[in-house]
Amino acid sequence: MINLDKLVRENVKNLKPYSSARDEYMGDASIYLDANENPYNVPYSRYPDPLQRQLKAKIAEVKHVYPENIFLGNGSDEPIDLLIRAFCEPKIDNIVAIDPTYGMYQVAANINSVEYRKVLLSEDFSLDTSKILSAVDSNTKLIFLCSPNNPTGNYLDENEVIKIIKNFEGIVIIDEAYIDFSGKKGFLRNLKDYQNLVILQTFSKAWGLASIRLGMAFASRHIILYLNKIKYPYNINYLTQQNALEALNKKDKKEDWVQYILANKLQLMEQMQTLRVVKKVFSSDANFFLIKVDEPKLIYEYLVEHKIIVRNRSNVSLCAGCLRITVGTQEENDLLVKMLNMF
Ligand SMILES: *Cc1c(COP(=O)(O)O)cnc(C)c1O
Repeated sequence: MINLDKLVRENVKNLKPYSSARDEYMGDASIYLDANENPYNVPYSRYPDPLQRQLKAKIAEVKHVYPENIFLGNGSDEPIDLLIRAFCEPKIDNIVAIDPTYGMYQVAANINSVEYRKVLLSEDFSLDTSKILSAVDSNTKLIFLCSPNNPTGNYLDENEVIKIIKNFEGIVIIDEAYIDFSGKKGFLRNLKDYQNLVILQTFSKAWGLASIRLGMAFASRHIILYLNKIKYPYNINYLTQQNALEALNKKDKKEDWVQYILANKLQLMEQMQTLRVVKKVFSSDANFFLIKVDEPKLIYEYLVEHKIIVRNRSNVSLCAGCLRITVGTQEENDLLVKMLNMF
């Protein structure tokens, strides 16, 4: 059994958080004269709910979890940063993560002066569990996994992930930003089994709402309480909360988009296979995939010249020669294929 109070930083454990007007009175009153707001221009004049209760209730319903197991952040970037700040003592503690993966974990670690230990995936991008566990020492507080992983696109083997969760006496974070595209259930249903599990999801990909900046962290109540303790009081603005509620109320639209994007992905991948410049098309459980080419930089620049931007990942571990392609609209995908065919 993990003792979260021992794992968390001492200053965070002892912190007396800022108490906003909306924290001190949470009921439903008719006259609010407590927050120095302008009384006109309702609803925008009012501070938003610091704990986003209406939105969390809706997310809880859609995701089949309890509201007290949800933390909402300004993108996934916020919980990534807050988890590091809650658990990692700068210059003492460390983080272990798979490599290659999403760059933000390392940036957030660097900002917080926390050592970041990269553990290479296997050649086929699968998880090397024993290598991960042997990179851990007594100062390792967090392990970052990403499934489906960015930029490799593969869903990590669930049994291997569970081995890590069970054998690590710290927090395991699984970033499921692309879970909706994977056809897999992911780890939300395992939340109640593990005190040390955090699952990150986002409105930025399948939901089509990258601009509203809304990320979700799901975890045991204890971890959520620590995140709430150190977040900015009104971290999710009113417009974002309203917009997300609207999207959740018509989630069929998201599911239709996912199906449509997946069909387009299949078509685009098939077309890619036929191109002379493409040496390999990697399989993917997300809405993007890697292709291997002989001259990634040249092809990247050629595409830029024709106003098509892909991501050059050829300098990333295990991804030599690789470009990462996001599945776009049918028209966009067709243009990409056409331009690559003419290279
Ligand atoms: C795109 C992406 C996110 C989303 O980040 P937001 O801050 O929520 O927009 C998170 N994790 C990974 C691995 C991603 O690729």
